[in-house]
Amino acid sequence: MSAVAYLDHAASTPMHPEVVEAMRAFFEGCYANPTGAHRMARDARRATDDARDVLAEALGARPGEIVFCGSGTEADNLAIFGAAAGSGGAVVCGATEHPAVLRPTEQIGGRVVGVDRGGMLDLDALAAALDGDVRLVSVMLANNETGVVWPLEEVAEVMARHAPRALLHTDAVQAFPWLDVAALAAPADLVSVSAHKFGGPKGVGALVVRDRVPLKPLIVGGGQEAERRSGTPNVSGIVGMGAAAEITVARRAEVVARVGRLRDRLADGLRASVEGVVESGVRPAAGAGVPVDRSAKVAGSCHLCFEGVESEALLFLAERGGVYASAASACASGAEHPSHVLAAMGYRRDLARGSLRLSLGASSSEADVDAALAVLPAAVAQLRRAAA
Ligand code: PLP
Repeated sequence: MSAVAYLDHAASTPMHPEVVEAMRAFFEGCYANPTGAHRMARDARRATDDARDVLAEALGARPGEIVFCGSGTEADNLAIFGAAAGSGGAVVCGATEHPAVLRPTEQIGGRVVGVDRGGMLDLDALAAALDGDVRLVSVMLANNETGVVWPLEEVAEVMARHAPRALLHTDAVQAFPWLDVAALAAPADLVSVSAHKFGGPKGVGALVVRDRVPLKPLIVGGGQEAERRSGTPNVSGIVGMGAAAEITVARRAEVVARVGRLRDRLADGLRASVEGVVESGVRPAAGAGVPVDRSAKVAGSCHLCFEGVESEALLFLAERGGVYASAASACASGAEHPSHVLAAMGYRRDLARGSLRLSLGASSSEADVDAALAVLPAAVAQLRRAAA
């Protein structure tokens, strides 16, 4: 494949070479089932336990509080169905949650709380949605489309006042590459992460379930993961997740600073060279020469809406120019419906139809930004000429 500017890291980011290497041993040499009694099984078990220790530290949890599972989606479903369904209590979530939280919440008749124009959770609306019947509140740490970060500490304060017995779940899937989840998710009882968003393999997720939280498993069988998620563990995947977590934490400060600068150059460059662009999740510059305030977003996120443009057509021209991006989240991309995230933020439907998510990651480079700045303004101009 010829070189492309890959700006879709929020959908999935490449595996670190060290992660591939760490996993290899569990495809080739140590292939035993880790629940077995012999030496190779014990080696596999030790490797998953080591990964559990690493992940626990990275998430501010105890090793026994980590439940490995098959994806971020499964971790979210396990949190909602496992901790709330059947309890008789209600579930409350934010309107801009990932479908992995929104759909389960809707399925059990939960309550959905709105956001403001900047994508920030409306804490007054949250307070109004809470009462003694609420069993679980699920609010994401960072949004997968806009990158906006929510203040869990403040959510926990609102819960302490209005629903003191409710559990707090956070979907930290998009937060982990950028934020100190161990510190920020400390008030949460349940925390979801997914390996392929931070340099690990696809198809491996984890849910932190604090010791005090009763959990009904979604999958029953051999009783693996301390009876909380049956099924033979994905040893190589779990080893890869542990290795990726270790690298992410060790390099996070450098990556955030470097990628944040790249993102700012990209967003500022597109705003300067294209008319009729709305950047989501930012506060307007306080005056001429003052930078746009992107402090509410994670460092890798650049999310823009282009007036008078259909994002599907823009993505097509971008790809032809070697720039890979997406319209909304990976799951919604390609769908006809404008994003539920932008709808919740009050964006006009026609503006939301021109949304573009350019998401950067640890491997992003100046060349990726150069390519996007060369290709996208010309593509927008071409589409607007064609529509005129
Ligand atoms: N939650 C968020 C915020 C996500 O961005 C994603 C994936 O895009 C998921 C959950 C689902 O994770 P997975 O792809 O591992 O199922």
